Amino acid sequence: MKTRSAKNDDLRSPKGMRDLVSEEVFLFQGFLEKAAEAAIYYGFKPIETPVLEQEELFTRSVGEDTDIVSKEMFSLKTRGGDRLVLRPEGTAGVMRAYLEQGMSALPQPLMFYYGGPFFRHENPQRGRWRQFYQFGLEILGTRKSIADATIINLAKIILEEAGIKNLTFRINSLGDADCRGAFRRDLINYYRKNVRHICVDCRERLKTNPLRLLDCKQPGCIAIKAEAPESIGYLCASCKTHFKEVLEYLDSLGVNYEVDNTLVRGLDYYTRTVFEIFTESHTDDGELTSLALGGGGRYDNLAKTLNSKKEVPAVGMSLGVDRIINLPEYIRHAPRLLKKPRVFFIQLSFDAKLKSFEVIEALRHAKIPIQQSLSKDSIGAQLALAEKNGVPYTIILGQKEAMENTVIVRNMDTRSQDTIKIDKLTEYLKKIK
Ligand code: AMP
Repeated sequence: MKTRSAKNDDLRSPKGMRDLVSEEVFLFQGFLEKAAEAAIYYGFKPIETPVLEQEELFTRSVGEDTDIVSKEMFSLKTRGGDRLVLRPEGTAGVMRAYLEQGMSALPQPLMFYYGGPFFRHENPQRGRWRQFYQFGLEILGTRKSIADATIINLAKIILEEAGIKNLTFRINSLGDADCRGAFRRDLINYYRKNVRHICVDCRERLKTNPLRLLDCKQPGCIAIKAEAPESIGYLCASCKTHFKEVLEYLDSLGVNYEVDNTLVRGLDYYTRTVFEIFTESHTDDGELTSLALGGGGRYDNLAKTLNSKKEVPAVGMSLGVDRIINLPEYIRHAPRLLKKPRVFFIQLSFDAKLKSFEVIEALRHAKIPIQQSLSKDSIGAQLALAEKNGVPYTIILGQKEAMENTVIVRNMDTRSQDTIKIDKLTEYLKKIK
């Protein structure tokens, strides 16, 4: 809601979190429903994991030295002493569920989609909230490159059907646990040699999360990055083949991608494929910038870091729903749940109000959605509201009609009126549709 009282400052929603009201909720639901439908056509099944998870799930998987875990988690201690966090991302919870539910015993791979709120204690700014919504896809239990391609292709389809143009997929391969190690070592050595030329944050990253050095946007660091070792140069034969296959799929699917050797995604659990999805968007000052709409990648080692004896190779991605539905080109999809009212229901007098429930319930069974004003007593005010909202018919139930088991149906266009028996009302309304 845009309008809010400035008086109750202490009773505002928490910083970076907002209420979604009426049409805003439908906007989110419309996107999520359409995305879920595309996923279902591709054979994905829904999964809902708790909004709260054990803190350790994220420290172990996403990594203690990532921004998400070190700075951005909302954590709480329960009365029993457990440390829980509001989930900052979806992948770790899905893998936790897979392992906990023994899903490796089912035919593999498993394909899941989900949508819902996520929480990060970031500085709120344009397109960045502390409670935001993601739609995610995960395929667990296969190493095959077609799974990576399926995830990327479906992300593209969902975004294109939402009307988003100018999509660019930046993609890279980090290699597996073995080749990534050599890359990391050389990267650290290279940055150690150049430590005098990098920013303060990067000096810290060098100690805690060296891959993130490649994320830095400081001009000095960008210059150093240009000569840094590239993960692709370290790929072993099977990682090379995997990456080549993924790119071949993307070529044949017409995905607009760029190989970006500096893309690392910063989370510990990624192996092999990583990608981010961008579009061009105008800032409030009219400047054209690229806006990240989603990202993902392969996480073949995640299960092991969560104490699984078996490896569970997997790949996934998530889309930032808040950003997508705020783009000017976004095509609004009404959720199926949303019904446009065809009838404005007016009840006058207590007897009419008593009878009104029966009429409205009959209309609901006949699938005729209504709008009504429960509090306004004057017929003039209620008719004016019906007119303002462009509802084509009004049903008027007054004292006399209640006694006679009838209602008046008024055509708001022609202003003609018919008196109809209540038990014939739905039949009548269906005829004049
Ligand atoms: P990530 O996995 O962090 O790259 O997040 C995937 C997508 O979620 C991003 O590309 C954004 O579109 C969206 N996203 C991430 N963090 C936020 C946030 N704080 N507020 C709104 N959207 C976000």
